[in-house]
Amino acid sequence: MADKIKIAIVGGGTAGWMTAAALAGIATDKICELILVESEAIGTVGVGEATIPAIKEFNDRLGIPETEMLQQTRATFKLGIEFQGWGKPGTSYIHPFGTFGQPIAGTDFHQQWLRFFSDSALRENAGLSQQLPPLEAYSLAVQMCRAGKFDYPKASAGSALDPIESSYAYAYHFDAGLYARYLRDYAEQRGVRRIEGRIHNVSQDPHSGDIQTLHLESGQQISADYFIDCSGFRSLLLGQTLGVAYQSWKHWLPCDSAVAMPSARDADLPPVTRSTAQPAGWQWRIPLQHRCGNGFVYQSSLIGDDEAADSLASSLKTPAIGDPRIIRFEAGKRACSWHKNCIAVGLAAGFLEPLESTSIYLIQAAIVNFLKLLPGKSLQPQLAREFNRLLNLEYERARDFIILHYHLNPRTDSELWRHCQSMSIPDELRLRIEAFRKRGFIEQYRHGLFAPPSWLSVFMGQGLKPRQVEPLANQVDPHKAAQTLSSLEQTIRRQIAAMPSSAEFVQQLNSMP
Ligand code: FAD
Repeated sequence: MADKIKIAIVGGGTAGWMTAAALAGIATDKICELILVESEAIGTVGVGEATIPAIKEFNDRLGIPETEMLQQTRATFKLGIEFQGWGKPGTSYIHPFGTFGQPIAGTDFHQQWLRFFSDSALRENAGLSQQLPPLEAYSLAVQMCRAGKFDYPKASAGSALDPIESSYAYAYHFDAGLYARYLRDYAEQRGVRRIEGRIHNVSQDPHSGDIQTLHLESGQQISADYFIDCSGFRSLLLGQTLGVAYQSWKHWLPCDSAVAMPSARDADLPPVTRSTAQPAGWQWRIPLQHRCGNGFVYQSSLIGDDEAADSLASSLKTPAIGDPRIIRFEAGKRACSWHKNCIAVGLAAGFLEPLESTSIYLIQAAIVNFLKLLPGKSLQPQLAREFNRLLNLEYERARDFIILHYHLNPRTDSELWRHCQSMSIPDELRLRIEAFRKRGFIEQYRHGLFAPPSWLSVFMGQGLKPRQVEPLANQVDPHKAAQTLSSLEQTIRRQIAAMPSSAEFVQQLNSMP
């Protein structure tokens, strides 16, 4: 095909191979010719094991068989994140990939729960027990996390999905290196040409400034119409070559370092990522089939690397099986992701700490939008502008959700938490917090992360209770609302009892052909 576009992808980490696989699998070699350059000597960042449910859509769109992918990447299931020490001392809450009840008579379920929670006379009149169960009792996903259970959401007898069993989605914990390897095989089978080698120079068109050629240490030269920069924190093309500035968000997200350390497998394979707040940051635990991923994200001005590594080592649930590895970063993003004929994807475009596992999702968002706006051989600046607008929204909304965790955290045991509580926050986030504080209202975004139940879990989990419910919620017949609450809670308990443990589920999956 005469006007086939030639695309060179720089980098073979999760971003590089997700991009190559998606372009090869969806755009196909009828539309583009694809080359990927990576350097084994440089390597990849080597972390990034927890995902959110959007990853399933990505894999499904590529036609990747789920069971095979799960087996080959030693994956486990993830139904949410457990936050320990982020709310009141000694408490934990779960951000589930699922709802807290369905709307009742047109009002959000949580509005009805709040109504009963704050009014004991109303509870009595409506026949509810005086001890109203916590909101999390009405989330199937939260209860599955707490019980360590897993099952796929099921369709009920009719063809429609059961409203309770379909009230959750799931994601994966996987070995990021094995996932990239899996996607590499997929991409190479579909015509992607991989070149091993280190790029030592990049030349630009003297008139337009577009990137023209990648020069490898081997002497090989690669020219293309478009260059996708997946070179990681180096941002070799967008940052170093084209000089697109980095916008720092460290005044909102002051953590700037992480230490990662694998440990032996946790036989329980809990279907949840754990995040535990610490004076100088927070620690993660991610269960995989063959090991646990552990890490400590911290503010380096508050704790030294050795102390952070010692603190992580002493909190491991299973014995360490590798040395600690320190990673430095700065929260923020490049002023734009698409400049001239270069599109940055992954760490080359920006970085948000892994508190809500948003980075792989942001890779996916960049790929999906690039595919929708796929340019021809000649540049169309309007497409780049629209791409940048959409990606800005994605990054800023994910960023705001992460800031929310820090800002609402009541801890006062270090400068980190005191600063985050008193700092001024982005306007859109401030308005969302106020709308929830005043009416329990959470707007559903039309674009970007996260959905209202996610926000609800963090608001409530970190102790922000609305002063009043929406006035219309008080119009709903309390008997009808009370009945829905009771029957949902009982149904969830029944369903949990019938589910296999997540470890049993993964074991069964591994015995499938
Ligand atoms: P990299 O993995 O760094 O890959 C860069 C590639 O570019 C490599 O192949 C390298 O060889 C190549 N390269 C660079 N320079 C050259 C050159 N000159 N010549 C040739 N090749 C070159 N995300 C999540 O979604 N969930 C998580 O749980 C999560 N946890 C994280 C924890 C930490 C501490 C950090 C720092 C990040 C985490 N992330 C997480 C983010 C996630 O790791 C990344 O988004 C993901 O791995 C993508 O990285 P990348 O492909 O952009 O970069």
